[in-house]
Amino acid sequence: MLQSHSQKYHPQTAAIRCGHRRTAEREHNEPIFTTSSFVFENAKQASDVFSDNESGNLYSRFTNPTVEGFENRLAALEGGRFCVATASGMAAINGVMLAMLKAGDHVIASTGLFGSTVSLFNKYYEKFGVDVSYVNMTDIDQWKLAVRPTTKLLFLETPSNPICEIADIAEIAKVSKRAGAYLAVDNAFCTPVLQQPLAFGADIVVHTATKYLDGQGRCIGGAIVTDDEKIYEELFGMLRTTGPSMSPFNAWTFTKGLETLALRMKQHCASALAVARWLQAQPAVKRVYYPGLRSHPQHELAMSQHNGFGGIVSFEVEGGKYDAWDVIDGTQFLSITANLGDAKTTITHPASTTHARITQHERDRARITDSLIRVSVGLEHVGDIIGDLELGLNKLKTPAEKSSPKNPRK
Ligand SMILES: *Cc1c(COP(=O)(O)O)cnc(C)c1O
Repeated sequence: MLQSHSQKYHPQTAAIRCGHRRTAEREHNEPIFTTSSFVFENAKQASDVFSDNESGNLYSRFTNPTVEGFENRLAALEGGRFCVATASGMAAINGVMLAMLKAGDHVIASTGLFGSTVSLFNKYYEKFGVDVSYVNMTDIDQWKLAVRPTTKLLFLETPSNPICEIADIAEIAKVSKRAGAYLAVDNAFCTPVLQQPLAFGADIVVHTATKYLDGQGRCIGGAIVTDDEKIYEELFGMLRTTGPSMSPFNAWTFTKGLETLALRMKQHCASALAVARWLQAQPAVKRVYYPGLRSHPQHELAMSQHNGFGGIVSFEVEGGKYDAWDVIDGTQFLSITANLGDAKTTITHPASTTHARITQHERDRARITDSLIRVSVGLEHVGDIIGDLELGLNKLKTPAEKSSPKNPRK
């Protein structure tokens, strides 16, 4: 929906003040409009709204004031004029594909995408004649070489899930423009607080609202933001016709989530950096993936593209799958769940959960090894989070080492 009054405010203000049109009841907090349809003053008004001669709500699959409030608020944060909310993050990604592509078109995507996104592209889009090539997103030449005359969309997720590789959005946007294609960025890990892809030249930002936008693991939802009116009209028409609308209750939850997003992201970043540094010093840990570490190969790029490094830390332990499982099972309060972006710290084994349904070849390409563990660092006290991870890592030690934990393993 069109933005009107948000641009002049700082994003932190927009996150709290933007999107609510107060009703005649003079409510302070944003209300939830749980209604499937809207009534008209008379038959003429109904006709005018149906024929677009008058703007207004018709039916909640098309527009709903609570959903629109969330859309306007998120659009303001991403710095785009238009947003369409969807029933899930996957519905948002599918929406972009359906709206922007036709049979015979070609897509270039980064490896290391969210597991369901890979399945969507490979299993479902292939049968409609859409070809997807995968490139290592950190290698700009691979993007350039993959371009074909039929290339219509470049799709990437940065930082990548789960190993936090960083794409240079501005450079890839140039490749996309030269190819006459659109660039879509999945901004789930950073949220607009830490990274605004539109400002670096992306055409479309997709979101899963399920993760940080909610922030407390309550609802499933998604959204697409763009500054291009033509793209927005394609997306809006297609999504409202195919039907994956966001429910007003979920929209309200996400709207309230956005109010605390900046504060939460600040704490997620600070705690994740502390966890990453601690992990890096542990002998049983082979490798830590976190863009905030100087050892991260794209640390400099992350510094220039981000306002912070996010809450996701992945690490490889010595050993294989069962050693990783032992570490996970050895923690006490961390939640063993594939969700991320929650106030609660979550821990997961990507190879056997989020990325189990893709092939071994696809996992190898995304560098998801059997000993990789992903932690979404939550908002508990960071000392407790580290303490719990230490309990997990203790499982990898021999009994002798356990009695003297200061004694390095190697
Ligand atoms: C979770 C996630 C999605 C999918 O979102 P849903 O709301 O679960 O449909 C897409 N991309 C990334 C990076 C995710 O983490």
